[in-house]
Amino acid sequence: MKQETNPDVVVVGGGHAGVEAATAAARLGARCLLITHRFDRLGEMSCNPAIGGIGKGHLVAEIDALDGLMGRIADRAGIQFRLLNRRKGPAVRGPRAQCDRDRYKAAMQEELAAYPNLTILEDEVTGLEVTNGEISGVQTRSGETIEARAVVVTTGTFLNGMIHIGDDSIPAGRRGDPAAERLATQFRDFGLPLGRLKTGTPPRLDARTIDFSNLEAQPGDDAPTMFSTMNRRPTAPQIPCHIAYTNEQTHETARRDLSRSAMFAGQITGQGPRYCPSFEDKITRFADKTSHQIFLEPEGLSSHLIYPNGLSMSLPEDTQEQIVRSIQGLSAAKIIHSGYAIEYDYIDPRALSVTLQAKDVPGLFLAGQINGTTGYEEAGAQGLLAGLNAAACVLEKEAIVLDRATAYTGVMIDDLVTKGVSEPYRMFTSRAEYRLQLRTDNADRRLTPIGLEAGCIGPERSAHFAQRQESFEQASDLLKTLKIAQGQSVGSLTCSRNGARRSAFQAIADAGVSRDDMIDAWPELEHIEPHVLDLVSAEAHYQPYLERQEKDIAALKSDNAVRLSEAMDYDSISGLSAELRGKLSRIRPRSIDQASRIDGMTPAALTLLMIYARQHDAKRTQVA
Ligand code: FAD
Repeated sequence: MKQETNPDVVVVGGGHAGVEAATAAARLGARCLLITHRFDRLGEMSCNPAIGGIGKGHLVAEIDALDGLMGRIADRAGIQFRLLNRRKGPAVRGPRAQCDRDRYKAAMQEELAAYPNLTILEDEVTGLEVTNGEISGVQTRSGETIEARAVVVTTGTFLNGMIHIGDDSIPAGRRGDPAAERLATQFRDFGLPLGRLKTGTPPRLDARTIDFSNLEAQPGDDAPTMFSTMNRRPTAPQIPCHIAYTNEQTHETARRDLSRSAMFAGQITGQGPRYCPSFEDKITRFADKTSHQIFLEPEGLSSHLIYPNGLSMSLPEDTQEQIVRSIQGLSAAKIIHSGYAIEYDYIDPRALSVTLQAKDVPGLFLAGQINGTTGYEEAGAQGLLAGLNAAACVLEKEAIVLDRATAYTGVMIDDLVTKGVSEPYRMFTSRAEYRLQLRTDNADRRLTPIGLEAGCIGPERSAHFAQRQESFEQASDLLKTLKIAQGQSVGSLTCSRNGARRSAFQAIADAGVSRDDMIDAWPELEHIEPHVLDLVSAEAHYQPYLERQEKDIAALKSDNAVRLSEAMDYDSISGLSAELRGKLSRIRPRSIDQASRIDGMTPAALTLLMIYARQHDAKRTQVA
């Protein structure tokens, strides 16, 4: 880990956002220095040992499409792959992998240690250097000042972090790591708005004390779905998870001791994730339910730790043990680490622009949980964009902004900087209005060309992408030329629709037609790789909807084309309410479309903005 003496970009924190930010900045050509507490915790999964899921799997595919790390590393560490929502349409299917925690870390550390343009320093950043109102570097605990024109802060739950177990409260960023207190004070001094959120983690159990014969096994998929287009199959041995169920006794025990829960006894003020509730939350909010499902997830192939997904709690240790032991299969289970809740400061992301740069502190970029999100995938996708933009800013390249019609990453960043958060933000497919277009299978077709243009795609992926594109084009062209013959049927389909002969491309769009049906009808399709045929099938299936959606997207892009300058003087637009002027001045939307999503925005106000922006554009063009 030689020290980079003259970095262009410093990234603070080597969590999921930090590693993507640092490698993305490096890929774009910036000399990057990643400063983090400990090298051996790079790639640490602070909570559950799994990557992906519905919505989250889409973010991983997008990270992969921009040549980021998370998908490839999860493929190497995956010990159980499952495609969630399999019975629904391809647009909302979410790949997920249970990962071996140690393999994930080892693969990440191996990748980072050899990454070109990247140096890693083990230290703690205690302060940010500012010169003439702009970021000029960082100070470290070991007493160094390191100069850099852009700094990406990705400190996760560490800002004023406080762990709670029952009555005990301990300052910490997560178990075993110190909190970052000085940085939080400095953010406040910069005038950045801070809030408080919380999250939690379940106790970890000793697998050797669990009676698996009493539990339902859940195997992975027979044909595993990889995150990265660069990988075809898992490399680690595959193992099952198990499912257990809470019961009335479990709930009664938790209810009895609720007043001893950090969350319910009032020590915690921060808002927790509604969609990933603690066990205390579940038994209170869903009081009529007598049982909840608990997934027993192995933490690794050579680990005895089991992560009981669904049992996150901040009850005292003795209550946690009684709760665990009330569950069938766990009556002798030993807890190795107790569950806990953690409260931490986050920065209201409305203080950021769409490039994730702080509007009032040029050169300061923020990404990950510090922006009010939760989850590795949300952190990784923000990190990648923040790293690219920090590098673009220093290298004087064009900013990289993904809009809502192009990527889930674009949806997330737009949601964050426009609406802010009231609880930890996590991705769902329902957040994307153009989700038929934003599938995991076409993430590379959507984003790799953008990455190629920006300059953040390595030669290996670039060649791989070109070859995938060619296979897709050839397969689609072939399917469009093949027609169902008179008297022939493909699955349940016959040769014509409304008098016109159906093509193989139309046939494959039908949910009732399988790959085998297609090959029976046209044996020449056998040589097409299954994933290519799947992609053609998804494109064919959604084509009628996509054509309609294209029109909406074109309308969105034409509204987006009306750019709103960051320097716009909203006070000078007559007819806007004081409240909207205040919001617009604070959020500084970059487009009419972004402005339209500000709380309380009205059609009349949007028209005023549009007229004002067009007049100013016209004036600027005349002057030029
Ligand atoms: P992190 O992964 O936390 O990384 C932060 C990094 O910054 C660390 O490497 C740290 O060492 C480093 N760092 C911090 N301060 C400094 C400094 N001053 N100088 C140098 N380095 C610094 N997500 C879910 O989706 N569901 C859950 O149920 C869930 N539960 C969680 C429970 C707990 C207890 C915790 C801690 C997290 C949980 N998460 C959960 C969140 C998930 O772990 C995070 O969303 C994700 O790790 C955030 O990534 P990040 O890169 O923003 O931060």
